Order: sequence, then C-alpha cells, then structure tokens
Amino acid sequence: MPFRATVLTLYPEMFPGHLGFSLSGKAMERGQWSLEAMQIRDFAEDKHRTVDDTPAGGGAGMVLRADILGKAIDSLVDDSRPRLLMSPRGKPLSQKRVRELGDGEGVVIVCGRFEGVDQRVIDARQLEEVSIGDYILSGGEPAALTLLDSVVRILPGVMGNALSGTHESFEHGLLEHPHYTRPQVFEDREIPAILTSGNHAAIEKWRLEQSLRLTRERRPDLLNES
Ligand code: SAH
Repeated sequence: MPFRATVLTLYPEMFPGHLGFSLSGKAMERGQWSLEAMQIRDFAEDKHRTVDDTPAGGGAGMVLRADILGKAIDSLVDDSRPRLLMSPRGKPLSQKRVRELGDGEGVVIVCGRFEGVDQRVIDARQLEEVSIGDYILSGGEPAALTLLDSVVRILPGVMGNALSGTHESFEHGLLEHPHYTRPQVFEDREIPAILTSGNHAAIEKWRLEQSLRLTRERRPDLLNES
C-alpha cells in the first residue's frame, strides 16, 4: 500500500502546495503516495460553522474547539496511522522520526491555528505533538508541508537516484561535506584538488574529515548525542 497522508486543516487549499511539484509531485501522480486535505470546518454544527472560541481563563486569541476537532478525527474510522499535531511545544522533528514515519503506512496530521488547540482533544485522541523548530508560525500548515516533504522524499521510488538520500546531513549523525561542480575555477576559487584526483578512497576520507569539521564547528551537540 502506498503511503497515505491525511491533513486536517482550516485551509485545505494550501495542500498539496509545493509537494505537487518536482519529485514529490511526480511520485504523487504515479500513485506512490497520496494526500487528502480535510476541512475541519465541515464538522462544525452551527450555521456560521464556528470552529474556535475564546480561551477559558481569559487572554488573547482564540482556541480550536475540542469537540469539532474530535469529530473530524473520528471521521477517520479504523485508522491505525500515527496522529500528529503540529505544535511548537512538540518534540522537535528529527530525521530518525522521519524515517520511522516513512516506514509506516501513512500519517494523519492536525494543523493548529490561532492560539492553539484545546488540550482535551490532544489528550483524548492521543495526538503526538511535533515541532519543526523553535520559532512560531501562524498555523500548522507550513509545518505539515515541511514534515511531509521530509517523509515523502525518502519513500521508495520517489528520489530518482536512490543513493542520494543516504549520504545526507543527519543520516549518519553528521553534517554533510561541501559539494562542488563545474566550472573548475570560479572567481579564482578552484575545486579542491583531491576531488578531481580520481582516488576514491582519498575522496571518501576527505569527505568524512570535512563532515566532522563542519559538525564540530556548527553543531557540536550532534557529536555529543551519539
Ligand atoms: N500559542 C501557541 C502558538 C500558536 S501558533 C504557543 O505559544 O505555543 C498556531 C499554530 O501554528 C499552532 O497550533 C501549530 O499548529 C502551528 N505552529 C506554530 N509554530 C510551529 C512550530 N514551530 N512547529 C510546528 N507547528 C507550529
């Protein structure tokens, strides 16, 4: 069964967005993965189709109602896919989690808006909160697109060159080495000689050294984690 993504959102027209282009778009056309965007508002019952209300306890903004979001989630019956909620309070998304999700049958993603989502539906429907970084977006949609981008590109058959998915930053706990291509000289800067030497063992060694150097300089936290 191809990977199946369902997104619950107040802005279904934001999907598939950039995922409809390039390799992910072609893979979607080939049926290698699918995306369904569901309008949360369709589950509202009043004539204004209200989905939010003021926060209990007071304060600014609005909160997405638990009952309406609960009904939207429950409309997906017999669904064993992981249920995620995009949230700045969530566990930061990692390549490890991306791999796990890509190995599964698919994912259900809830996009928050306003101040966020009533805590009771997060608890009652056991939503896994996932953050894409320590900054605040105005809604979960770009976060969901980001998460899906990272998952879809590793699905079997999506990337043209299967190898190019496996050397990248984070896959081995290190940042990736620098890349070069023609021309041989750009504004007096040459391609490092070793890369044109034809000595593959030496090239691999150089790349690993560069990876270690960059990781030490920029992300020492990655070295301490493993
Ligand atoms: N008041 C909240 C922020 C709400 S932002 C707080 O301070 O925690 C509105 C919605 O955008 C959130 O419900 C979430 O779905 C999404 N969002 C914002 N930043 C995000 C991030 N870094 N990662 C994932 N989703 C995010």
